[in-house]
Amino acid sequence: MRCPKCGSRDDKVIDSRQSRDSSSIRRRRECLKCKYRFTTYEEIERSDLRVVKRDRTHEPFDRRKLAASIAKAFEKRSTSLLTLEDTVDEIVHELETSGREVPSYVIGTKVLEKLRGIDEVAYLRYASVYQQFQDVDQFVDAIHTLGRRVKPNAAQRELFPSETAQRPAPGPRNIPTSKNHGRV
Ligand SMILES: [Zn+2]
Repeated sequence: MRCPKCGSRDDKVIDSRQSRDSSSIRRRRECLKCKYRFTTYEEIERSDLRVVKRDRTHEPFDRRKLAASIAKAFEKRSTSLLTLEDTVDEIVHELETSGREVPSYVIGTKVLEKLRGIDEVAYLRYASVYQQFQDVDQFVDAIHTLGRRVKPNAAQRELFPSETAQRPAPGPRNIPTSKNHGRV
């Protein structure tokens, strides 16, 4: 495996770990040249699980895409990588045992259920990107349903890192940015 840092092709595996359902193996590797440590995954390629999108088109389920969307919600949060991997494993396992076709909103709902129990800020980030709130009130409702542990102002500052700016939404659906609402 080519070292992502120096490009050397010599590495050694320093740790292997199976996912809970044994459907994937995670390997921790160390570059023999520069000692950089990185992680690789080995998993069964499944071509039979398909995602039905909102526009009714189908596409093959992509575990990496799911994992990336979850990782993004946890950016700069303190949740461990292992927790995130377990979460992805759980979701994938549930999807794979529930049929061959899965609507994208079912995946989104499952992710939200899991995230809610792990990290509220990550939950809200994911929700804001994938749930497409109709308006600001809905978004605020979502914050409130999380209960007293989230203080809107504290959450907002963290909630909208600069990358959310990459998804411009049309006017009324726009979620307030911290520039407008973060401080008074
Ligand atoms: Zn290297």
